Amino acid sequence: MVEASKFWFEKACSHAPCNTLIHPWTSTCKDATATMLLSCIKGSYKFYAMVYLIQILMKGKKLGKDEMIEQFKLYLKSGIFGLTVGSSFVTLNYIFRALFFSQFNYYTTVLLPCTVSGLAVYFEPPYRRVMVVNLFVNLVFEYWVRTLEMKGWLRRTPGKETLIFMLGSAVFFYLMRKERENRKRTPLFWFFTPPRVSKEVGEPIKGVNGRSPACPHKGNCINYILRGTIQLFGVGCAMTILRTIIPRILTPTKALKSLKLSHLKLGVFFGGYIGIYRLVVCLLCRAYGKDSALYALPAGFLAGAAFRASPSLPISLAPLTSTLQILGSWGYQAGYIPEQWPVVELLYCVCQGLLFHARVMHEDVCPRYIINLMTTVTSTKADQIQSAFIQRMLRSL
Ligand SMILES: [Zn+2]
Ligand SMILES: [Zn+2]
Repeated sequence: MVEASKFWFEKACSHAPCNTLIHPWTSTCKDATATMLLSCIKGSYKFYAMVYLIQILMKGKKLGKDEMIEQFKLYLKSGIFGLTVGSSFVTLNYIFRALFFSQFNYYTTVLLPCTVSGLAVYFEPPYRRVMVVNLFVNLVFEYWVRTLEMKGWLRRTPGKETLIFMLGSAVFFYLMRKERENRKRTPLFWFFTPPRVSKEVGEPIKGVNGRSPACPHKGNCINYILRGTIQLFGVGCAMTILRTIIPRILTPTKALKSLKLSHLKLGVFFGGYIGIYRLVVCLLCRAYGKDSALYALPAGFLAGAAFRASPSLPISLAPLTSTLQILGSWGYQAGYIPEQWPVVELLYCVCQGLLFHARVMHEDVCPRYIINLMTTVTSTKADQIQSAFIQRMLRSL
């Protein structure tokens, strides 16, 4: 029971003094702004240290000195983005209340200030903004699905999630292959990028050896398929194992004992996903002697079945979100969306407002990622604010 409806929120909180609601850790407003800022500086740089570390590791190559400096500058800027969003909450709340509303309202307490503070996304360079928006739109979809489920209008099952993922993957891989021909490509973040459509043509091939001239890869097909499968299987397993072992790093024997066969699930999903995709594309190239972007439709659909090994709601929606991202970038390029409109930035603001509002008012259906993100960036101040809300409401029942 941590659901705050408009009615209950306003009954319990609209006349509350601000120190019991939005800064429960200190009684004076002046201290609140300063302590919030300090917590957010610490939290934001801690959060982005993890993000940048993972990004550098995922690139899988050593950085030169110039690249290191470049990454460090980006890290400093991202940190400013995080700490501005976090620390402006208390301040913006004051400003809006002083100017327009004398009390706390359901929509103006969290939704409004957190929508406005989303403008801090301008601290990030444009390509990172696109990636952050992709993530946040996906989280909003997750939030909506969870809300529908809680209202009883929809029931989630691993089977349904897999089907959504398969359909999404089919369309997304097709659009990704089309997008490869584009000169102004939108930054996409996915398990692997399908190769561009090969222009070579040749005779159909029987048997299993060698490669078709149309195949979008070098070497023979079996090697190509197995190499991808094993690599991504390894990545998936490594990710799960690290996540299991790191919290228990001080007790290595216990850590090793905690490893189970079920930790291979993510590896099966990753490896199966790329393996099936490559298999289907190669089979079609060999059968027809030419390559086509359309092969991505059956290949992506069938590859998506590997998701059944490790289903999760946010990932099941991700191909759909990225499909919308490609269509959006085509819309920009075709001139359907005027270039000077800040669609990406405004979309980010709306998503951030909705999600942070959900964090405080509807914790049960709020995506886990947002809860963890806000805890880290504000050094648990967000949790203190949320529990102050809930306590007030429980007392007014
Ligand atoms: Zn105050
Ligand atoms: Zn092949």
